[in-house]
Order: sequence, then structure tokens, then C-alpha cells
Amino acid sequence: MTAVILRRFIIFYIYPQIFSMLSFDNTEVAFAGKTQKDLNRSYMLFKMVNNNGLVSVGKALTNFAVNLHLPINGFIKATIFKQFCGGENISESLKTVEQLAKYNIGSILDYSVEGKTSEKDFDDTAAEIIKTLQAAAINPNISFGVFKPSGLCRHSVLEKVSAGKALTGEEAQAWTNMQRRVDNLCKAASDNNVRLLIDAEETWTQVAVDGLVGDMMKKYNRQKPIVFNTVQLYRTDRNRYLESLLADAMQNNYFIGMKLVRGAYMEKERERAEKMGYTSPINKTKEDTDREYNTALEFCIKHIDKVAFCSGSHNEDSATLLVNLMEQYKIPRNHPHVWFSQLLGMSDHISYNVAKEGYNVAKYVPYGPIKNVLPYLIRRAQENTSVKGQTGRELNLIIKEKQRRASAA
Ligand SMILES: Cc1cc2nc3c(=O)[nH]c(=O)nc-3n(C[C@H](O)[C@H](O)[C@H](O)COP(=O)(O)OP(=O)(O)OC[C@H]3O[C@@H](n4cnc5c(N)ncnc54)[C@H](O)[C@@H]3O)c2cc1C
Repeated sequence: MTAVILRRFIIFYIYPQIFSMLSFDNTEVAFAGKTQKDLNRSYMLFKMVNNNGLVSVGKALTNFAVNLHLPINGFIKATIFKQFCGGENISESLKTVEQLAKYNIGSILDYSVEGKTSEKDFDDTAAEIIKTLQAAAINPNISFGVFKPSGLCRHSVLEKVSAGKALTGEEAQAWTNMQRRVDNLCKAASDNNVRLLIDAEETWTQVAVDGLVGDMMKKYNRQKPIVFNTVQLYRTDRNRYLESLLADAMQNNYFIGMKLVRGAYMEKERERAEKMGYTSPINKTKEDTDREYNTALEFCIKHIDKVAFCSGSHNEDSATLLVNLMEQYKIPRNHPHVWFSQLLGMSDHISYNVAKEGYNVAKYVPYGPIKNVLPYLIRRAQENTSVKGQTGRELNLIIKEKQRRASAA
């Protein structure tokens, strides 16, 4: 017990003091890809979204204007869309891919269309994702493909399968369609030798997704990690899931591919648990989530021969810890099994600084028609509103870089 505590103290407190050469304070590196005009635009945007009231009003006005077909696409495209999205289609997004590649940052083309419900729409979405895999096959700067399970299947069907409930004939057909779509995508990823991330969503749909993605890993990860599931470490049970998955992978001889995130549906999860009277699957505190995340990072690093993973986080401590663990376990910076990942338009201070030091970095590059990516954009705006009147972390970094450029001029 004492040995374990001592070891953790060394990894998390002593080691960083000695080895952490990495600094996220370098805004010159972080914003190297931004012209003064880009920086000013980002400044105006984050200044606006920093205002809670403005974001709420903006959200209502935008939805209103879109429903009335008012011509606001040009305004959205020049502002929030430009910050957080690559383009309206793959070919437009390739400019962003090339721009990131100049700084050794890979891209993850993310077809971010949400809210579709028909089988035809799901087939169309799957066909579009195949195109992203084909684009990745011929472009080394596109590091992964990605999809959201709810983009390919009705939420209610995923929920019923997860709960082990009997499906109607029509629902059974929808679930068969989902299995076919996911298998087609994983096969296309494997045929094109492109890694494929599968996002995680609410716990009440995740059992179905874990089962399906588990089967895909067994089928397509025999030679190398191609299919990546996602674990949300705000959940209390995910480190146990990782352990049992590793035991299965050892026994059945396949690689694990995994994206580690903290999790994006905390309020929704807690509200549902409270309403339906079951124990919340979410950690009680942020510190608990951070500890679970750290444990998962170390677990993956320790089993690096069998596990390939992507740390999807905007948290500087997590990035620092991963760098330190790689040093400690003598894992080369560009080891193909270790990736740092952030969203386009966010936490460039992590992406650019880590990439400059030679680590593998890839950013999600969301794309799609403006109207269909609006829910995604509104979430990004809400995420960057100020908490208790403080300036958001993105805005602080932009202000710092504006000041640095002004004093260097
Ligand atoms: C590349 C990438 C891919 C992603 N993919 C997914 C995905 O597939 N599925 C998904 O759900 N999310 C995904 N996310 C979002 C992610 O889960 C987080 O919501 C987001 O990144 C913020 O967490 P953080 O690690 O960046 O940093 P931080 O800002 O340090 O952490 C914030 C997170 O901590 C947790 N938290 C906050 N307060 C508490 C509390 N009181 N108690 C317990 N936990 C708390 C929550 O998860 C919250 O989102 C992704 C993020 C990135 C960057």
C-alpha cells in the first residue's frame, strides 16, 4: 500500500517537476497558424460567447432565423462556423487539414450532422463517413475517421437494445441495419488502413454500442488497432470495463483501440438517474473524474503493446501527465499507439505545443451543412460561456497572444 502511494506521488508530483519540458504558456506557438485578422476574429467571437446572456439570446435568435429561412448562413459561416468547423463538405475542409498539417497536427474529419431519424438518413450518413475514410486513405494528414452511433441509429432503438428489452419487428430491422452500417464502416476502415474512432454518448445507449464495437475490435483489430471505442471517465465503472476488455483482448488475441474522455453528458445523466431513482453512474466530484482519467491513462500506457489510445481532452494536467508517463515508461513520442486529441478551434495551446515537441496530435475537424451543424456550434458556444463572471480559458489565451504580438511589434 505504502509502495503504491509512493509510486503515485513520484509519477504525479515529483516526476513532472523533473521532466516536464512542455509548456502550454507559449501562445506564440499555440497561435502560429493564425494571422492577426484570424486572431481578432477569434477574440471578438470568444468575447461574445463569454457572455452567458448573449449566448442564450443568440441561440434563440439563430434557431428562429433558421426556421424562418432568413439569410444568416453567411454571418454564421464567417464567425462561429469558421472558428469551430472545417467546411461544409470534405473538399472545403481539406484546406483546414493542410493548414493543421503545417504544424504537424493531424485531422479527424467529423461529419457533424445531428438530429436525423430516418433509415434513409442513416444510410446517407454512413455513406458520407465512408467518404471520409477514403479521403484519409490517400491523405496522411487525416489521422482517423470518426462517427457518433446516434448518427446511424435511432436513439430509442439503441436504448431498448441496451436495456435488453424486446424489439418490435420494425425496431429489430433498424438494429440489424445499424449492425450492418457499423460493420461496413469498420470494414472500410480496415480495407483503407485508417483508424476509426467511435464516440460515446449516454450510458443508457452505451451497452448496445460497447457490445457492437467490442465485436468489431475482435473482427478488425487482429493485426493492428483499427477500431477505437470511447470510455468516459466521469463514469464510476469505466476503469473496470478497461480491465475486463484487456483480459478479453489477451484471451482472444486482438488489439484494443480506445479514446479516453471525461464525458460530455454529466447533467443529463444525473437528472435521469435522479428522476428514475437509480444510482447515478457519474462520479460524485470533478476530482474523482480526474483521478479516474489519470488511472485510465496509466493503464493504457502500461499495456501499450496491446492498447492504442487517443487522449481526447482539453485539460492541461492530463496532457502533462501523459507526457510524463511516456517519459517514465520510455515510450517514443511518436509511438503509433499514443495520440493527443482536441477539437478544432479549442485548446490550440495544447495541440500546437505538444505537436511541436514531436508527439502525435490530431484535431477533430467537424464539417457539414451549416444548418445541420448548428447544434454542435451552439454546444461549443455554451461550453465557452463564462463561469461566475470569469473570462473563459480560450479568451484568456487569445488576449495573452494579442498582448504578446502588440509588444513584439
Ligand atoms: C477529441 C475529443 C473527443 C471527444 N469525444 C467525446 C465522446 O466521444 N463522448 C463524450 O461524452 N465526450 C467527448 N468529448 C468531450 C469530453 O468528454 C469533455 O466533455 C470535454 O473534453 C471536457 O473535458 P476535458 O478533459 O477537456 O477537461 P476538463 O475541463 O478538465 O473537464 C471537464 C469535464 O470533467 C467532468 N466533470 C466536471 N465537473 C464534474 C463533477 N462535478 N463531477 C464529476 N465530473 C465532473 C465532466 O466530464 C466535464 O466535461 C471529447 C472531447 C475531445 C477533446
